Amino acid sequence: MEIIQVKNLSHIYKSSSGDKVALDGVSFSIADGEFVAIIGTNGSGKSTLAKHFNALLLPTDGKIFVDGLDTSDEKNLWHVRENVGMVFQNPDSEIVAAIVEDDVAFGLENLGIAPEKIRERVDLALDDVNMSDYKNFAPSKLSGGQKQRIAIAGVIAMQTKIIVFDEPTAMLDPQGRREVLEMVKRLHAQGKTIIYITHFMEEAAAAQRVFVMEGGRIILDGTPREIFTNVKEMKRLGFDVPVAVEIAERLRRKGFKLPQKILTAEELSEALR
Ligand code: ADP
Ligand code: MG
Repeated sequence: MEIIQVKNLSHIYKSSSGDKVALDGVSFSIADGEFVAIIGTNGSGKSTLAKHFNALLLPTDGKIFVDGLDTSDEKNLWHVRENVGMVFQNPDSEIVAAIVEDDVAFGLENLGIAPEKIRERVDLALDDVNMSDYKNFAPSKLSGGQKQRIAIAGVIAMQTKIIVFDEPTAMLDPQGRREVLEMVKRLHAQGKTIIYITHFMEEAAAAQRVFVMEGGRIILDGTPREIFTNVKEMKRLGFDVPVAVEIAERLRRKGFKLPQKILTAEELSEALR
C-alpha cells in the first residue's frame, strides 16, 4: 500500500526580493514501511519537501497525500500530524524541556493522552533508544548523539507510522552518527516508513531507495546500488560515493577485475578474496 503520494508538487517561497521556486513539479509514491533516503546539494529543495510531509508547508501547486489524506485540507491536519514524526538537524533546537523524560513526553501531552499512558510510552521510548538511564538528566548535559536519540524517543512515543529525518546527523561526531543510523535501521525493521535526508552517502546506502534532488526536482530515483555504483554520474552531479564503491573503482583502474555492482565493504572484501 502507498502511504505517501506526491503529485506534481511545487513550492514557491514568495518574498519582496522575488519568488523562489524550491520544488518544481515533484511526483512520487512511497510504500508503507519503505526506507527512502534523499540526497541533494544545498538548496536543492530537500528540507522544503520534508516540511510538506507533515503539512508544516503546503503546496503552492500539486498535491501530497499522507495515509490517503490531502495535507492541504484543514480537517486532515490533525491526522497527518499524528502520523508523521519529524527529526531535524540541530538537536539543541529540538529540546523543549529541562528534563529528558519531560522532553520525550512533550508531544504526547499535546495530544491529550492520560498521564499514566504517557509515562508508560515515555519509558518504552527511552528504552528503545537506550537512554533509560538518563531519564532524569538535563538534556543540556548530553552529547549531540544522545540529544538526537532523545528527539527520536519523542517521535517513537508519538507512535507515528512515518518518520522524516532532515539531516539528523549533520552536527554529530562519527559515534553519534552511528548511534542515530542504528536507531533509524531499527525503526525501519519495526515497520515504520522512513524518509531520511542526509549528505552522508554511507547513510543513504543503508536505505532501500534513494532520491537524488537537484533544482527542486527529483532527478534520480533508484536502489542505492543503482544510484551509487554509477560512479561517473554521481561525480558529475557533485556527489561522493560510499567508500567501498570508491575503492573498488580505483582498484578497477589499477586492473583489478571486480564486479561493477559492489556497494558495501563486505561485498568489496568478498570480491577481493
Ligand atoms: P535543502 O534542504 O536541499 O538545502 P531547501 O529546501 O532548504 O534546500 O531550500 C530550497 C531553496 O529554497 C533554496 O534556494 C533556499 O534558499 C530557498 N528557501 C528555503 N527556505 C526559504 C524561505 N523560508 N524563504 C525563501 N527561500 C527559501
Ligand atoms: Mg535542508
